[in-house]
Amino acid sequence: MRAIVCPEPGRLERIERPMPEAAPGLVAVDVKAVGICGTDFHIFEGTHPFLAYPRVMGHELSGVVAGGAASPDLAPGTKVVINPYLSCGHCVACRKGKPNCCATLKVLGVHIDGGMCERILVPEENLYPAGELSLRDAAMIEFQAIGAHAVRRSGIAKGDRVLVVGAGPIGVGTGIFARLAGGDVTLMDISEPRLGFLADRVGFQDAIRAGEDALAEIDRRTGGDRYDLVFDATGNARAMERSFAFVASGGTLVFVGVRNADITFSDPEFHRKEMTLKATRNATRADFDTVMSAVRAGHVPMDALNTHGGALDDLPEAMPAWMHGSEPPLKAVVTV
Ligand SMILES: [Zn+2]
Ligand SMILES: [Zn+2]
Repeated sequence: MRAIVCPEPGRLERIERPMPEAAPGLVAVDVKAVGICGTDFHIFEGTHPFLAYPRVMGHELSGVVAGGAASPDLAPGTKVVINPYLSCGHCVACRKGKPNCCATLKVLGVHIDGGMCERILVPEENLYPAGELSLRDAAMIEFQAIGAHAVRRSGIAKGDRVLVVGAGPIGVGTGIFARLAGGDVTLMDISEPRLGFLADRVGFQDAIRAGEDALAEIDRRTGGDRYDLVFDATGNARAMERSFAFVASGGTLVFVGVRNADITFSDPEFHRKEMTLKATRNATRADFDTVMSAVRAGHVPMDALNTHGGALDDLPEAMPAWMHGSEPPLKAVVTV
């Protein structure tokens, strides 16, 4: 079968590999669509911490079951959404129903080879029937599930004033599910064109340009209260440190983005506000279900989010062009 491999940072190659056959507990899935995300760009650039090359990337996946499932819901020919988080099932986190932060979690396309190929083997419990979702839409569930998970963990209440810092795909997914949960959502980003696009196409009219005067602008908009709930989706250490100031007294700060660095904050400010700080990681089946339901109900502007596309075979040329182009993708989806 064909596959796209990243043999070392900065290079993608088309290769041939043996077609995998279903094995006990594993289901063979013919991959049909692959979403490209920031993680993939980091792997390609060589800025992802602890990554072993060569690697076949691809963790935002949809496909069609080829065979090997015990469940009649996953008969050959069934369209599926693939959950790429492979958990152990018996560690402390798994025992508490938190497989998204399994102590030995392996992510398809990151820690082990993923779905930039024609066929992949996946544990049966990681496959969710896509129903009437298109194969493209089914490949756009995973990144939004991360946002839905962050929103679920945040303890959001209807009417909360919410600030999402960082309007990449994860931030936008977080904003969409915070809005669906009844939050009054404002986005913050450094890119004026990105904020303009999101206002026009995704309905995020409230936006703040990140910069020197952001705090003054926040105080102006909130009467000095600041935000009940702040999500950081930048994964930028300075931005994460600055976001403590954006939180209202009694409010919550959620780190969605992750940075391979230490961050510091002022304990008196943290205490004065009795702030809650949470990290969120990945997503669980419940979050995938939340997103699939919202997409089926027409609550997510999927066409607007899917800014770029193409064929998997063309990725060795397309990926560097997208990274260095004037309009980086919000979400690129390639077909296999
Ligand atoms: Zn991703
Ligand atoms: Zn585990």
